[in-house]
Amino acid sequence: MVREQIIRRGISNNQVIDVMQNTPRHRFVPDGVADYAYQDNALPIGKGQTISQPYIVAFMTETLDVDSTYKVLEIGTGSGYQAAVLSPLVKHVYTIEIVKMLAERADSTLKALSYNNVTVRWGDGYKGWPEEAPFDRIIGTAAPAEIPKALIDQLKPGGKMVLPVGTNWQEIVVLTKSKSGKIQKKNVLPVRFVPMVHQK
Ligand code: SAH
Repeated sequence: MVREQIIRRGISNNQVIDVMQNTPRHRFVPDGVADYAYQDNALPIGKGQTISQPYIVAFMTETLDVDSTYKVLEIGTGSGYQAAVLSPLVKHVYTIEIVKMLAERADSTLKALSYNNVTVRWGDGYKGWPEEAPFDRIIGTAAPAEIPKALIDQLKPGGKMVLPVGTNWQEIVVLTKSKSGKIQKKNVLPVRFVPMVHQK
């Protein structure tokens, strides 16, 4: 998987390559699809949701540009796989999932595999996680139509956010906040993610 899907497509950060090598993806997918865990696809994880394709997980992790001192927020825990990939690379991962069954399952998978610096919360990530803000990095793995203001507010100055944005047409957007608070956005890759639920 790592050689064919990750390195060949241009992922070059050695820490990201190592973590993709060492994270047991088959443990994060339902038993019925475990045989396909290392194939070049997204896979169903129940409740109409999916675990992202390995390449996309590697790409977003590399693009997020993390450090071992960072506090990271993830919106859309899903299976917990992306959080597990980030776990060894950062100080702490806070991850929010809106579907209760998925939040509970990801939490028990991550605990069983001793990912001790990941905290899973069942709730609406559109609003971020104000009690733990600000974050050095924010990653979204469900696509909002527009980047939620709460997430921009909860990003540290000097911070970076990586998430899919859009409805019919989606692209991964990299948002940076300068030390003085100036926001810049760049579209980097067309993708297909599930929508980010937005309860008003
Ligand atoms: N990162 C996941 C893939 C997640 S798929 C993994 O590695 O497996 C996107 C997830 O986002 C779904 O589980 C979906 O239920 C969740 N989601 C959608 N809208 C959300 C919201 N507003 N807050 C939190 N989670 C949300």
